[in-house]
Amino acid sequence: MKIVTSKNFPENKFKETLKTALEKLKLSRNVKKICLKIDDSLGEDANVDYGKIKEGKLILSFGPRVNINKKLIYHELAHVYDAIFNKIIFDKKIFRERKVIQELMGLILNLSVDGRLEKMKLPHFSKSERLKDIVKLFKKRKLSLNAREFIDQTWGKKYINSEEVKHETLKFYKKLKKKEED
Ligand SMILES: [Zn+2]
Repeated sequence: MKIVTSKNFPENKFKETLKTALEKLKLSRNVKKICLKIDDSLGEDANVDYGKIKEGKLILSFGPRVNINKKLIYHELAHVYDAIFNKIIFDKKIFRERKVIQELMGLILNLSVDGRLEKMKLPHFSKSERLKDIVKLFKKRKLSLNAREFIDQTWGKKYINSEEVKHETLKFYKKLKKKEED
């Protein structure tokens, strides 16, 4: 496996982690080359570009304020696993009309990934770490969902394709709208 880093990327200290994570997630045959980048426009976010995954190429970009650690690397690679083996791609175009639905779908995918990594006893973000972010987002967007319930219902859940994730997302979104009307 080959790793290429952009000039502004902090020294290549993640090589071993990436190699081990690919092996543990059974992705070694699918990912031959990884490009690591710092992308100023991402802020506190990370992004995976699977555009060239068929050719074995993966681009992982991190915002300048992201703490790049083991947990994050496993998390991002688990999304790659979903993209390759479950045909789950987080495509923002799916819910172009409503940013809040996009965000909900992103959360559902994150909790699915983190819970499954936990089951596999691999590095992962914990429920309590995620709870903080989710409470913050629900507050910001004035969502009436119960964060703890939301986590319990999606933690480690397996989805077999994007349609299923979309369906799940709309289920939560409807709950939300119903509450608003009450
Ligand atoms: Zn994620």
